[in-house]
Amino acid sequence: MAILTIRTVGDPVLRSQCSPVTVFDAALAKLIDDMMETMYQVQGVGLAGPQVGIDKRLFTFGGIDGREGHVINPVLEIGDQPQEGGEGCLSVPGLSAATPRMNWARVSGQDVTGAPVSYEGEGLFARMLQHECDHLDGLMFIDRLVGEDKKNVWSKIRQADYQGIAAKVQGERASQVSSAFGQSTPGGSAFGI
Ligand code: ZN
Repeated sequence: MAILTIRTVGDPVLRSQCSPVTVFDAALAKLIDDMMETMYQVQGVGLAGPQVGIDKRLFTFGGIDGREGHVINPVLEIGDQPQEGGEGCLSVPGLSAATPRMNWARVSGQDVTGAPVSYEGEGLFARMLQHECDHLDGLMFIDRLVGEDKKNVWSKIRQADYQGIAAKVQGERASQVSSAFGQSTPGGSAFGI
């Protein structure tokens, strides 16, 4: 397995409308394995294709309610009750904000063999499903913000030094990877998805 490089905001792949997966082969299985390993390495709870430079409709998840897995070609359904809560993203390092989401969600799609799978949940799990499906349509949590949160987060992203901060986080992740044989400490910061 291999640790993949996580793309950060400003990278055009994060704005791609991803295409469906049509070939279920060994290369796809390896990609899913690598994404799972990368996600856990950076203590994320979800990771979508474009975040590792792959403009295909797939994502991995793990660490919420002890559940882990992956979904290929997901179709999202959401409930009509909103939930409140903060959200961050591995591709928007160092920033998080209250992000409107629905409280219940289900995704139906395929696993790495092409067999049908479905996952549903509430709260944080539902938030993660909505966040990952957004990535496959070129959307990020920063596009869902409203009011002051929207203003604050976007002004930080537009600051000249934000790309420097993002690069620094990438560097720190790279040094974590080089010491990957050690124990990783669960991060105290906002969860990354
Ligand atoms: Zn994300």
